[in-house]
Order: sequence, then structure tokens, then C-alpha cells
Amino acid sequence: MTLSGAAQNTDANSVEAEAGALTDGFHLVIDALKLNDINTIYGVPGIPITDFGRMAQAEGMRVISFRHEQHAGNAAAIAGYLTQKPGICLTVSAPGFLNGLTALANATTNCFPMILISGSSEREIVDLQQGDYEEMDQLAIAKPLCKAAFRVLHAEDIGIAVARAIRAAVSGRPGGVYLDLPAKLFGQTMDAVAGAKSLVKVIDPAPRQLPAPESVARALDVLKGAKRPLIILGKGAAYAQCDDDIRALVEQSGIPYLPMSMAKGLLPDDHPQSAGAARSLVLKESDVVMLIGARLNWLLSHGKGKSWGAPGTKQFIQIDIEPREMDSNVEIAAPLVGDIGSCVAALLDGLGGAWQAPPAEWTGAISEKKEVNLARMAPKLQNNNVPMDFHGALGALRTIVKQRPDAILVNEGANTLDFARSIIDMYQPRKRLDVGTWGIMGIGMGAAVAAAVETGKPVLAVEGDSAFGFSGMEVETICRYKLPVCIVVFNNNGIYRGTDTNPTGGPDVATTVFVKDARYDMMMQAFGGVGVHVTSPDELTRAVNEAMDSGKPTLVNAVIDENAGTESGRIGNLNPQSVVSKT
Ligand code: ADP
Ligand code: MG
Repeated sequence: MTLSGAAQNTDANSVEAEAGALTDGFHLVIDALKLNDINTIYGVPGIPITDFGRMAQAEGMRVISFRHEQHAGNAAAIAGYLTQKPGICLTVSAPGFLNGLTALANATTNCFPMILISGSSEREIVDLQQGDYEEMDQLAIAKPLCKAAFRVLHAEDIGIAVARAIRAAVSGRPGGVYLDLPAKLFGQTMDAVAGAKSLVKVIDPAPRQLPAPESVARALDVLKGAKRPLIILGKGAAYAQCDDDIRALVEQSGIPYLPMSMAKGLLPDDHPQSAGAARSLVLKESDVVMLIGARLNWLLSHGKGKSWGAPGTKQFIQIDIEPREMDSNVEIAAPLVGDIGSCVAALLDGLGGAWQAPPAEWTGAISEKKEVNLARMAPKLQNNNVPMDFHGALGALRTIVKQRPDAILVNEGANTLDFARSIIDMYQPRKRLDVGTWGIMGIGMGAAVAAAVETGKPVLAVEGDSAFGFSGMEVETICRYKLPVCIVVFNNNGIYRGTDTNPTGGPDVATTVFVKDARYDMMMQAFGGVGVHVTSPDELTRAVNEAMDSGKPTLVNAVIDENAGTESGRIGNLNPQSVVSKT
């Protein structure tokens, strides 16, 4: 009897096994993933999954090892977003699992499909709380933070468990799934032929969900009654990968559109119908707003309040796969529940020849506002100040992205995020990866690794110095796998800016400042990558172009004026203020 090699994947659709041979839990999990075209794992090795990672690599999977599980998890989530297949994150038990859980919860919040697979300790000991190595009831802890959570106790259930995890992650509203694999499961053996038969190739994992014809008719009615219509594209629209139909709907309807940050590039940002540079105007003045894969959450001021104009003057049409998203914040006049591809196709069908483009008064007012705003911005972006301000530095990067539209932009920070989002135009779908629905810091290096691994395209990560710190150790991972990632750290000596002082005058520095004039570029050099220190927009341009041409892992330490930057960027209003504060 031979172990392993028995349940070999001969092609993507079948797993063959020799009669009389054995297989085990390790190989069944690997075979189940491969059978479903999942060929990459992001993780951190350790007990009890070290051998699992080794075997996955031996069986031809790409196994990318990180330095911390949160970044492996963020990578898996972004892999899911980019490919519509669940990204896999693999962790050890308790602490590793908890580290990965932040990413799993974030993926669920962002509607990205991923599966967190964690090894766990012995059930019998965990359940009697007898103090096992890394003891923790992981399944119970994961449950409220993801779409679904499963534990597998028997090797013969692995095929079904992986199938359920995949379906749960990608069907309906995508999200995170937890798969708990106790250490004992990996070593369980079973007959290889029976093992191969137990695996499930998931058929149609994310079935189309057609909108009801009456919902389509209602949406078209509302749209046709609009004098000042607006389309808002969210990252759900980008995820759906029906780029041509979305573009056709926007262009054939003539309706101005506003992209949410990760939907930038779904249509090029310099498209004449983009209202990106007239955001305040269109939110306030529009009378009908059609949301496509965008939620009315805090990022859109919940669809009400000052920025949305007078109450009761707006009607919403919302396209979403999740019925419960409707009326979450304000009344939705025309809910259109279904997958975005099907909904947009149905609307396109219904537009027909009788469609009237929106009044020129509306589109003209938007164009005027755009021109004013863009003209005001242009000179700021060309400034060559030393030390650089955000505009000068981002003006340089904006030109580089324009020249390299297929590069992927990763972006996080406070001011670095806010300014880059509005300054750097995107030209292709799914090229902008950022802090998403929660606005969290720490997604940078995980996203950069996944973007490079999944697409093979060059990656430009524009990072605030604080944001970079959360995942900075992964520069070693980037060097180790020789990924074409260029990181630009906007170094202004601190969080928001670098000039805060300790109000007591004591020896500790202020809570928001870092070591002055730190050389983040040397971190990259420590692992054999390229590190460059720049102080002007011209130097920045040269360094980034060189990195993007060479494809070598590069970190550019871009010195930004430490006085530049405002508290919490554009969301300073979310900071509670003390009424008794003495400072
Ligand atoms: P943004 O932050 O860009 O506004 P959100 O994450 O708030 O985007 O919204 C994305 C929405 O898209 C979610 O409500 C999600 O249910 C929805 N969604 C994701 N994929 C699809 C799809 N294929 N079809 C329909 N809706 C989808
Ligand atoms: Mg900073």
C-alpha cells in the first residue's frame, strides 16, 4: 500500500486513484481545492499545517508564505475579488487563526470571496477545556464574523466541506468562509478510490440570479422620469466582471456616473460622462440615483443629510444581489435584485430606441463644474516643491499611472488615500485596490502580493508611512517571491502629519509622530530589493519608472513635508471631541 501520490489530479476535472492505494486528509484537501481550479494558497506555516503547505507545493499548487497571517488573509481576499474564485488563506491554530480572522471579517464586510482554512487542536481536549496546545474553539469564534463556518471531522467529508465552503463564499453576496480542520483530520487515511469519489467539483458555484421583469420595468420607469439622473458604480460592479455591458448602459443612457473608489477605471476616469470631479454637485442636485453594486453606507453618507440635498427630493434605484440591502438606510423606490450582469443586461434591453438622453441643462452643469474643479487642481499637481506636498508627489504618480494603465494601484493611508483617490485617474477595471468598506489600514502589502501573483501585472503601492507600518514586514515576502511591486512610502514623519508635540513637554514624543526622517527604503535593501530615497517629484518619477520597467521589488521613500496633511484626512469629523479637553 502506498500513501499519497495515490489521489493524483490527472486533469482539472478528475481525480484518479490506483486500486488498493490509500489517501489521507492532507491529500484530500489539496485534491478538493485543485479539482475546483483553486491553485494558490496564501498562508503562514506552523503546527498543524506545515506539512500541508509542503504537500500542496509538491502537488503543484502555488503556496505563498507570509510573515503574518493578516496579510496572507488580505491577499486571499483580494485574490477573490480579482478572480471571482475564493482566495485561500491557510493558518495555524488559535493565534494564527485569530490573526487571519481580521482579514476574514474584512473580506466579508467588503463582499470578497475567501476561505480561511485553519488547523485546530484536538476537539476532545478543546471541548473539555483541558488546556491543549493553542486551545481555542475556533469554529464558534469565526461564526459571527463570516458568511459560513464549517468543521470537518472525517476524511470522507472533506470533498463536501470544500464544496460547501466554495459555494458559500462565491454565491449570492460573496464573502468570507471559515473551514476548521483539526490536526487529526490530516493524518486520517481512507481508500484512495473512495477518496477520489468523495470529492465534489462544484457546478455553477455562483449561479446567475435574474431580476424579476416587473422590477426591471419599475426601475426603467423611475429612470425615465428623471430630469437629473446619476449612476453610482461600486466595487460590486467591478467585481461582477460585466465591464462591457456597464459601459454600454452608461454610454447608451447618457447618464453621468460617479465611481466609488474601487470602481474607478470601470470606465476610464477621463470619460466625458464621469462626474468624479463634480461629486458634491451630483450628489446634491440629482433627482434619481441608480446604485450599481454600491451600498448606501457611511461612504455615501447613508444616502441622506446635507451632502444629498433637500430631504425627499431624491429617488433611488438599487441593483444588488442581496435583497436585504434594499432600504438599509433610505427608501429604495426601485429595488432591482439580481446579479449585476443580468440586471444591467435587462436594463440595456429595456432602454430601447425611445430612450431620451438626460437634459443638456443637467449634463452641461456637471461639465462646467468639472472644468472649474480640474482647472483649479491642475497647477497644484505640477508643483515641484521640495519637500514635496501631497499634490506634487501625486501629480507625478498620476502621470505614471496614465502611461501604464494596466498596472495595479494599491492605496492606503489617511491623506495619502484621500488625495490619491481623487488625483490618480484609473483607466481599466479592477486596477485600484484600497482600504474598502471599513477604511482599514494594513491591507497594503497583502493586496500588493495578491495583485502581482494573480495578474502578473506590475503593482504600484502608494502608502502613507503609518499605513505601510501595519504590513511593512511583508517587503521580505515581496523580495522572496521577486514580485514586480513598487512601494512608494509617503513619509511625512507621522500619522496625519509629523509635527504634533507632547502637550506636557515630557520626554515622550506626541502619540502621532514617528522617528523623524526614517529611511523606509533601507528596509527593502535589507532583503535584496531596491531602495530609493527621493525628495522631489522629478526624482520620484524617475525612481518609480525605473522600478516599473525593471519589475524589481522596490521601495521609494518619498519625503513629504511634515506639515502637510490633516487630521484623519477627509473623515476628521468622525473623531469624537472632548468637551472638557484642556489641550
Ligand atoms: P462600494 O464600497 O464600492 O460602494 P460596496 O461594497 O458598498 O461597494 O457594495 C458592493 C455591493 O455589491 C454589495 O452590496 C454586494 O452585495 C453587491 N454585489 C457584489 N457582487 C455582486 C454581483 N455579482 N451582483 C450583484 N451585486 C453584487
Ligand atoms: Mg504620514
